[in-house]
Amino acid sequence: MGHTSLGVDPFVSQTPSTPYATANSTPFNPPNTLDRIYSTYRHPRRRHSEAQMPRENIGDLSAKKFAELLSGPILDIFVGPEGRQWSLHQNLLTHHSRFFDDSGLVNGTPKRIKDNKLDLKDEDPGAFELLVKWLYQGKIDDVSWMPKDVKWEYAFKCQKLYLLCDTVGLSELKNQAIDQFRRGCHEAGLVPGPDEMKPIYEKTPPSSPFRKLVSKIAARQIMDPGSEKDATSYRECFVQSPDFAVDVINAIKEGSGGSLFDDPTEGNGCRYHEHEDGENCHKTVKFKDMS
Ligand SMILES: [Zn+2]
Repeated sequence: MGHTSLGVDPFVSQTPSTPYATANSTPFNPPNTLDRIYSTYRHPRRRHSEAQMPRENIGDLSAKKFAELLSGPILDIFVGPEGRQWSLHQNLLTHHSRFFDDSGLVNGTPKRIKDNKLDLKDEDPGAFELLVKWLYQGKIDDVSWMPKDVKWEYAFKCQKLYLLCDTVGLSELKNQAIDQFRRGCHEAGLVPGPDEMKPIYEKTPPSSPFRKLVSKIAARQIMDPGSEKDATSYRECFVQSPDFAVDVINAIKEGSGGSLFDDPTEGNGCRYHEHEDGENCHKTVKFKDMS
């Protein structure tokens, strides 16, 4: 696999630490009723968008409600190129995401569910396993409890889970997946290489936080003085996605504090000439500083 060893200073250290968050727990904006009314007023469509509403964890539902979700029709889902099959409760699926609701026509886009069957052949069966656990139990495994030699594998599976959640519209699980991915990389001391980064830029929109994350990882790898990696390692990714190149360079600028380089229009007049050092040269421009 193309993943590479992480430097001494883990990238996770750049995230705000917990003490900071708790120290500021005195709310600047107390969640009062007026605020809530105002935000509902400002975003009236949100009231009807189930995906936007914070929901109860599935494990905390009443027995009655949970039993309702586990009755009714079954949806057959075929995942991955081999079409690995799961038969899951449609009420439960639509409780989590409207993606699984075949009654409502999604504006313009062709329906993906036909005759209680759904094809997800571009998704990963291993990632789907994690999704199934979350759908029924409201949580996924925590990488911190795993032995070190499987942490990276699990992290990479969480990357695929993230992409799967993008497809089926589960933003809450996306956040858990990216957290597990970061923690897994950190605890394994490994980060994704160019090959593992490619699918992110193929499958996520430009605003995706996962793009931000992997471009920062690539930037850090490139800038690490102790690493043999330079931008050449990511050539294929740059070719495949100019967005990736732009994000990486911007991440370098941001991460390095934007230091100003020496002015390339100043200095030694032979710097850009095509001749050996010390060779006879007929300069065309007179430079003030001949250093
Ligand atoms: Zn010269």
